[in-house]
Amino acid sequence: MLYGQIVDAYVEVQETTKRLEMTARLAQLFSETPTDQLRMVVYLTQGRVHPPFLGGELGLAEKLVVKAIALGTGHSVDEVQELMYDTGDLGTACESFLERKVQMALFTEELTVEKVHGNFVKVVEATGSSSQDLKMKLVADLLHSASPVEGRYIVRTILGRLRLGVGDMTIIDALGSAYEVEREPLERAYNLHPDLGEIAVAIAEQGADGLDGFSITAGIPVHCMLAERLPSIGDILERTGGTAALEYKYDGLRVQAHILLDGSVELFSRQLERITDQYPDVVAALKEAEPAAGTIVEGECVPIVPETGEMLPFQVVSRRRGRKHGLEKAMTDIPVSIVLFDCLLAGGEDVTLKPYPERRKVLEGVLKTVDGVQFAEYLITSDPDEGERFFSESIERGSEGIVAKSVAEDSIYRAGSRGFLWIKYKRDYRMELTDTLDLVPVGAYRGRGKRSGVYGALLMASYDRQGDSFETVCKLGTGFDDDTLAEMVGMLDGIKLEGKHPRVSSRLDADIWLEPKLVMEVAGAEITHSPVHTCALDRLKEGAGLAVRFPRFLGNWRDDKSPEDATSTDEVVSMYERQVKTS
Ligand code: AMP
Repeated sequence: MLYGQIVDAYVEVQETTKRLEMTARLAQLFSETPTDQLRMVVYLTQGRVHPPFLGGELGLAEKLVVKAIALGTGHSVDEVQELMYDTGDLGTACESFLERKVQMALFTEELTVEKVHGNFVKVVEATGSSSQDLKMKLVADLLHSASPVEGRYIVRTILGRLRLGVGDMTIIDALGSAYEVEREPLERAYNLHPDLGEIAVAIAEQGADGLDGFSITAGIPVHCMLAERLPSIGDILERTGGTAALEYKYDGLRVQAHILLDGSVELFSRQLERITDQYPDVVAALKEAEPAAGTIVEGECVPIVPETGEMLPFQVVSRRRGRKHGLEKAMTDIPVSIVLFDCLLAGGEDVTLKPYPERRKVLEGVLKTVDGVQFAEYLITSDPDEGERFFSESIERGSEGIVAKSVAEDSIYRAGSRGFLWIKYKRDYRMELTDTLDLVPVGAYRGRGKRSGVYGALLMASYDRQGDSFETVCKLGTGFDDDTLAEMVGMLDGIKLEGKHPRVSSRLDADIWLEPKLVMEVAGAEITHSPVHTCALDRLKEGAGLAVRFPRFLGNWRDDKSPEDATSTDEVVSMYERQVKTS
């Protein structure tokens, strides 16, 4: 099949804004395509060379494409660049150079779909030191034989900017119309097995029956189920029929973990990209959890400080995305845990049609919790007050809010759909406190893992003038360098106590209690209500105190301050009040 046939369709699709006309034109293209070329035509129309989970994204750097156009059309790099600035689009620039070439009748053979797809595949697969040069030559090779309009689309595709204005749903409709298959079964197959090339071939060969073979499979990512949002726990419970499973909404990266039949683990992102190589620690932890082969579980990858259970903000994980070098260092600096909340396939059995509470049970049975693998905190409740308390606790522990899940009979896993079976309720502001706090360590926790032998975290308190006591306000485990950690062992030795100091008010236990003596400068993201800390307990909300969220030590020991000069509970209250006013 000639590449020109696809390009004719692209041009017509781009000439209309009417979705029906676009669909009809694409349907015509698909029905004209021989079955053995259909995969390639579908992927190219998606602007890619493979289904997303096989990787190999197109998206060459502009600089390289400029060189390829220069080489492929016989112009200088400067000329190409100049025209690019004039037209604002390299595709159009390439087209006009090729038009000049046509006038000189320098055209050679016609491009086939196979040739274009083949060169694109070589481009995405090229690695190593000379790969840039090779990629450029592969593109130039296509441009040598391309007609002007083909050149426009080759360039746009290779830049990863095809932008026909058709999404996967339009392609699905076009395939349905070309091969007379209803949209619903097509969409279901696509959500469970997001490879439109393979689906196209199946229906071209067997019509709707071809879709029967598409089931959920370990190794092929499933489109994620998504959540709606509501503004209060009351609204949520009303919507879910009075009862819901509330879960922490972890602020990390959604990950679908697949355990293949041979026991190997693959990780996929919400966009269905394979991200296994970026999280070798998560892969190793999952293997240790001894999951059944043929299993798909879903969760959120979150950086969690092992000593405190404190969750760090998402940016810490995102720095690791795409990082290839220094991965080992990144792993010790930022240990990432996967917090699991759903199970789609368990030991080869598709469990997506079971109600949520059953899936949760299946999840807990299909693997163990180990360091780095845990299950999402959750609470089934019908009581809005209990729900609010759970929400505050989730915020204090560093999550973004909660995801409430229906526990009704119909609470199945709906791949690829956003609906009210899952409802998110988020904290809607996030900021950095402008003031730092001077807090007093009143307890300490022994370190684990790379912090064994030193302290992992400190229990910090504010000073309450009325009660002349120290009230806990956070666990502090971040902001310490190795020297400080080592030094602290000796420093705290001198103030260790047998039990809690009488002036310390705490609902939490510590491994070691300390005399309130030292003052440390701490920064934080915000002040939140807390069900566990005693700072300002019951003053703003019954049963709740205040906590500093995402506390981090700034390295300053405030030797100039006595513990009674530390930030007072009243000050923490006014920081909270100021923050509520400005949010
Ligand atoms: P949003 O990205 O704001 O639409 O919220 C939905 C996202 O929250 C999901 O895609 C997950 O990445 C994330 N999430 C965190 N914790 C949970 C949980 N317990 N259940 C479901 N999704 C969660």
